[in-house]
Formats: sequence, C-alpha cells, structure tokens
Amino acid sequence: MGSATAATALVEALSRGLPGDRLVVDPDVLAAMSHDDAEWAPAGTAAAGVRARTEAEVQHVVRTCAALGAPIVPRGAGTGLSGGANAVSGCVVLDLSRMNQVLEIDPDNLVCVVQPGAVNDDVKAAVAEHGLWYPPDPASAPWSTIGGNVATNAGGLCCLKYGVTRDYVLGLRAVVGGPVAYGDVVRLGRRTTKGVAGLDLAGLFVGSEGTLGVVTEVTLRLRPAPAGSPRTIVGAFPDLVSSGRAVAQITRRGLTPAVLELLDRACLEAVEEWKHLGIDADAGALLLARVDTPGDSGAAEAAAIAATMTGAGAMWAEQSTDDAEAEALFDARRLAYPALERLGPVLTEDVCVPRSKVPAMLEQINAIAARHGVRIATIAHAGDGNLHPLLITPPGDSAARLAAQAAFEEFLDAAIALGGTVTGEHGVGILKRDGMRRELDPGSLALQAAVRRALDPREVFNPGKG
Ligand SMILES: Cc1cc2nc3c(=O)[nH]c(=O)nc-3n(C[C@H](O)[C@H](O)[C@H](O)COP(=O)(O)OP(=O)(O)OC[C@H]3O[C@@H](n4cnc5c(N)ncnc54)[C@H](O)[C@@H]3O)c2cc1C
Repeated sequence: MGSATAATALVEALSRGLPGDRLVVDPDVLAAMSHDDAEWAPAGTAAAGVRARTEAEVQHVVRTCAALGAPIVPRGAGTGLSGGANAVSGCVVLDLSRMNQVLEIDPDNLVCVVQPGAVNDDVKAAVAEHGLWYPPDPASAPWSTIGGNVATNAGGLCCLKYGVTRDYVLGLRAVVGGPVAYGDVVRLGRRTTKGVAGLDLAGLFVGSEGTLGVVTEVTLRLRPAPAGSPRTIVGAFPDLVSSGRAVAQITRRGLTPAVLELLDRACLEAVEEWKHLGIDADAGALLLARVDTPGDSGAAEAAAIAATMTGAGAMWAEQSTDDAEAEALFDARRLAYPALERLGPVLTEDVCVPRSKVPAMLEQINAIAARHGVRIATIAHAGDGNLHPLLITPPGDSAARLAAQAAFEEFLDAAIALGGTVTGEHGVGILKRDGMRRELDPGSLALQAAVRRALDPREVFNPGKG
C-alpha cells in the first residue's frame, strides 16, 4: 500500500470509533501538532492527529494503529525540548491535552488523581485550595501537562530539596500493548504511601517518553502546603565558574536550599530587554537560592548560604529584603528561555554532572563554545548540577547552526567524562539518542531494548525516540 492510501485507510478506520471533532487531517494544523519546542529536531509527516477526550478513545486509537501498523506519538503540550513529541512518518499524533481534569483530591491521604492533559500549574492551584502542594515545578509549569511531565520525569526549580516527578507518581493507568492486547488498559502502581507488590512498573513508565504506552490517568503524592514565606538569597559573581564553585561548596557543607538556580549575564540582559523587570545585570552570573525552613533554623541556613557564596568569590551575597525584587529575579529565571528565543533559534542543552564538578563543567562549556565561536547563555538548576547552556544562533545562518550542533555534542562528551549524564530532565527524545548510546554501557542498552521489545513488540509507541 502506498503511503497516501495507507493514510486514507488509517483515517477511515480511526473515524469509525471517534466523534468527528477529534480527528485532525488539515495539513497546517497537523504540522503545528507535529513538533515540540526542540530546535532542529527532525519531524516526520503525520498521517493524522487525534485530540482524545476519553480513555476509550485512546484505546480505539491504539487498537487501530496496532492493527494497521501505524506508529503513535503521544503529545501533551508540546513544550518538550528533545523532540520526543515530534511526529514520525505516517504516525498518528495523539494529543492528550483535552483530557485535562483533576478527578479527585484526597486531603486525608495527601493524594490526587488527574488526567494526563492537566496542566502542572492547574493541578498546583486545585490542590492548593485544600491546603496541599504538588512540588515538581518545571519552568514550563504554566503550560506543560502532567502526562508530559511523567513521560519525561520532569524536574524543575525545587527538585533540589523536594525531588522530581518520579518522587510524586504513586500510580497510573495506561493504554498498552505487548503481553496484553494492544488497546488494553493497565493499572500500575498504587495509592498507598508504601507498596512493593511486584516490579515497579509505574516507575518504569516515568521517564519512558511515550515508548511503552499512553498514560491516561496519574495518581500523585502531595505534600502539605508550605507554611510561611521563603527567604531568598542572591549572590552576584564576576563569572560563571566562581558561581559554580559556590554551588559545589554549598553542597559540600550540607546546606539544602529548596532552590539554587543560576543565570548568567546574557540571560539577565535578554530578559531585561524584553520585560523591563528592573534587573541590574552588572554581574557575570547570579545565584538565586531560596530557603523555606521556618524560624531561626531558616535564618541560620540563609546566612550560611550567603557566607558560602562570599567565600567562593561572590562580589556580594545577601538575603533579599525586597519581595518584589526577589520575585523579579525568579521571573527572570523562568523567562530566560523565551527571552533568548527572541534573539534567534536556541538549541537547549541539558547535561547534569555531580555537583562537585559544576565548576569544571562550566569551564568546559565556556571553552567548547569559544572553540566553536558559538554564542551561549547559561541557566541552570545549579544545585542539582543540571546545566542548560543555551546555544543561540542568528536566524537562517547555517554555519552558525552547524557550529552550535557540534558544540552541543561536545558538551555531552564533556559531561560524560565528568561522570555526568547527557540529559538531566528533558529526556532523550531525538536529540540525545547518540549521546545516550555514548553514555550507557552496552548491557544497560541491551536491557532497555529488551524491555521495549517485550512491552511493544510491534513498535507502535513513539518508535525512534529514546
Ligand atoms: C520555557 C520552557 C521551560 C522548561 N523548563 C523545564 C524544567 O524546568 N524542567 C524540565 O524537566 N523540563 C522543562 N522544560 C521541558 C518540558 O516542558 C518538559 O519536558 C515537560 O515535561 C513536557 O511536557 P509537555 O506536556 O509539553 O509534553 P510534550 O512535549 O508534549 O511531550 C513530552 C514527551 O512526553 C510524551 N508524552 C506526553 N504525554 C504523554 C502521555 N499521556 N502518555 C505517554 N507519553 C506522553 C511525548 O510523547 C514526549 O515524548 C521546559 C520547556 C520550556 C519550553
């Protein structure tokens, strides 16, 4: 069957089990649904899109695609930065963003149950009404979905103290294939605080990037809402590497701020030029720490962090007394990526190194970028050792693009050599496939391939990713 005929047969079969408004075949709309936010990650041409509203509709899509041999690319909000939600040729892009309900909030047991398309900030707001808190806070929280967060094991700003998405997923429902029939629903995990019955299959799905099945419901662990106002400590450093030294020393001293973020001057300038937040970008790099320990212990922790910053070479480090100013700095951190995107295509790196190696990795980033003549700006979840050098290229400059791509790969090798990983939180997707193969040992790669073969022998779920 030719690809056009196959696409027609697929659309006909899909339409037999779906209300008319769920199917997308308009080429422009389909093209917009066919890529995430990763710059230059290749995307194929999808045969169709489906905007599912129920689990039964997801089941129909999975059964149909498995029967006709069409791949499925699940999609949340498309804010991914690795190409994970990019279409592959002839696929169905399965958009889960319309399945966005918070189904249950259980304050007695600190648990909520949500659909995969629920937006992270909406879940936070819903549980906050019950005095509860869902901590994982990717900077994309206003847009990204819980399904996407689960599939990428998203991190964020407060992971340093409160952990990543994986630490909050107790259980989930997914439409799967493999050992059960394609299109069957499985319930994985639990809703109790503890539980070791069987292998941790819910955990296996976290970070699996849509390659094992389609997540249709998630049971999340919650915490009580934090009491009191956090303290913000700001340190201004002459350069990136000295800010990295401060990160390493804060870790070594056993200080655990809730947040420890880094922004270099290029980021501060880009945000200021765009949003006019009133930030004075005279430093080479800023470290932003947030301490949420209440009372005297919190005050002592904040003072110790400021002193450590000064000891590591900060020009100044102080506890912010101005809430508006502190908020503006955190806004700058969240807005850095879109602010830099205004300057041209941005290739986003996501390496993670042991925290003692942060200064060395920052040195390597500077050296590699200089060698390739690439313009970079660096933001980082520095306290986690998770660095995001952003490679900025002038629009339409193919030589600059090639240089950026070469530097990107060298960053990966430098991170591996320092005992780190090629992706701390954005996932492998398409952009890190080669890097992952350079990082993992052959046995680990063989086990991963075997798991995927067992759970998806027909290669229906997001093939070519991860
Ligand atoms: C401005 C900005 C800031 C960001 N900051 C952070 C950050 O601080 N931390 C961080 O970790 N990431 C960050 N990201 C990256 C991105 O937001 C996260 O990877 C996020 O988890 C993706 O969610 P999404 O809903 O957009 O998923 P998508 O991009 O749509 O999909 C991501 C992956 O999940 C799969 N998927 C989606 N839904 C399902 C489902 N229901 N079942 C199975 N698979 C599914 C897709 O196939 C794909 O592989 C940022 C991105 C941007 C643009």
